[in-house]
Amino acid sequence: MANYADAQELAALRSLSASIGRDPHLTQAAGGNTSLKAGDTLWIKASGTWLKNALAEDIMVPVAIAPLLKAVEQRDPAADQPQAFAIEALNARKLRPSIETTVHALMPQRVVLHVHCVETISLAVQADCEAQLAKRLDGLEWAYVAYRRPGLPLAQGIAERLRPGVDVLILGNHGLVVAAETVADAEALLRRVTGLLARPPREVVEPNVAALTALIGRTGYRLPADIEAHAAAIDPESCRMASGGSLYPDHVIFLGQGSVVARSGEDVKCVTERCGAAPAAILFPGLGVLMRGDAGAGADAMQRCLADVTARVDVVAKLNYLTAAENDELINWDAEQYRQKLNAAGG
Ligand SMILES: [Zn+2]
Repeated sequence: MANYADAQELAALRSLSASIGRDPHLTQAAGGNTSLKAGDTLWIKASGTWLKNALAEDIMVPVAIAPLLKAVEQRDPAADQPQAFAIEALNARKLRPSIETTVHALMPQRVVLHVHCVETISLAVQADCEAQLAKRLDGLEWAYVAYRRPGLPLAQGIAERLRPGVDVLILGNHGLVVAAETVADAEALLRRVTGLLARPPREVVEPNVAALTALIGRTGYRLPADIEAHAAAIDPESCRMASGGSLYPDHVIFLGQGSVVARSGEDVKCVTERCGAAPAAILFPGLGVLMRGDAGAGADAMQRCLADVTARVDVVAKLNYLTAAENDELINWDAEQYRQKLNAAGG
């Protein structure tokens, strides 16, 4: 990088990215991404890489901003393939830029942080989200963008809602974007917004590990990586919310459509037969969660995310679930299949 000040900011951004990536309340698995604009180049997290590895690995890819923005403006499908805009001479690892690169390019500020913050998602799945935000974010320059598939559709949704001065975006059924001129200011804004959106999670009892272990038997299923993941099955309200369908895109990508909840008396074999396939995760109400033996680190991270999100949702709120068509477009999405492949290899 030619400019010393830009290089210093990129180093600061990598450090902040790693710390964001280590906080499961801010981002999970390969989700979330960060960027820095340096002249006419956007340095953005690579698709399929994990923010928590931002210091240990080179995960930032350079992208030419102007042609990408032109493609978004012209609704050119090329904008959905940001790798076409990567500056290959500077892209030593030949990584693909994040599928959310257009979100970062559209924000005029130098530094953009996009997180799948559980405080934000828990509000962003409520049908009354905008009214809740108006109460909590009074005084900030924020905009709410209703759910669109990440990539070009989301970029167009943002372009329609963006006004001069907006530096906070709440993405329906998805997450949070904050932007600022420096890494330090972006971090401060991130902390401020997540603080304003924070709600205490409902407390739950411990999982019934003895009962879950008995259910595991010889099924090949296992306990989740994080004990926190069980709450989605233990808390009746969380379990009810989970059973209603998919609440945000990365859930569909890593765990499949919706959640599978065991019915009274069902064991793993019964559930698998009823579903016609072995689900990545099974929720046993009141007991806890089991993960399929071959489920990867991304699936574990997303199963815990479901517990963290649903524990914060208002129990009387009406929820917006992804529609059948929205689920299908995520499952059949080429860019996501690439990200999944990398995630499985490097997670
Ligand atoms: Zn996202």
